[in-house]
Amino acid sequence: MPTHSLDAFTLRSYPLGESDRIVVLFSREKGLGRAVAKGARKSGSSLAGRIEPLVRCRFLLAACRNLDIVSQCETVRTFPALRQDLSRLMQALCLAELTMAALAEGEPHPEAFDRFDEALRSMCRLDPQLVALWYQLKLLDDLGYRPSFDFCVLCGTPIEGESFFSPREGGVVCCRDGLRLSPLVRETLSLLQEAGISELDSLHPEKEVLGDAHRLLGEHIKLRIDARLKASSLLPLLG
Ligand SMILES: [Zn+2]
Repeated sequence: MPTHSLDAFTLRSYPLGESDRIVVLFSREKGLGRAVAKGARKSGSSLAGRIEPLVRCRFLLAACRNLDIVSQCETVRTFPALRQDLSRLMQALCLAELTMAALAEGEPHPEAFDRFDEALRSMCRLDPQLVALWYQLKLLDDLGYRPSFDFCVLCGTPIEGESFFSPREGGVVCCRDGLRLSPLVRETLSLLQEAGISELDSLHPEKEVLGDAHRLLGEHIKLRIDARLKASSLLPLLG
């Protein structure tokens, strides 16, 4: 069987038969794809720990008629700080779920891959909700679903002070038809939309502002991405 190597994140895995798992991989070269990890459900499998969600590995894949088969894999990065903190881990898993819901399999998205890697690294040391918002906004931009925070989406009027966000219209509106948006939340979202990852270090929005921004953007995402965002439904439990 011909083999090829692939540097990829495991985003999720699920059981296949009694002893195997199917892994959903996200690589710079190929975007989203799936492969079979044979024997990964057996106790003592050397593959099991390496195909955990959010671990980045260099895979050696054997081409097969249906799905490639993982023949070797070597860990590149494990992000231990994510696994030591439940709120970081949940936010990171949400990004993985969102990525799987948003991107089509087999289409390379090198920028999205680089940002996913940067986001996980930044989540290890920065507020995970801040990083998650940044990643979500950039991904929405890629998909053509960029929400407007500075001008009314209906009439183009510049927005100042308290405003309203309409998930249906995809941005702020000057009529009072939508979710109430405080100036601070709006400014934070607008700032994050333009920010590079290195600029996140200098942003320190309050927890409450981030929470509001997260809920609001979540409504926007729900309407646009057919997301089976299972992980995000657990977030409220974390407070
Ligand atoms: Zn308007």
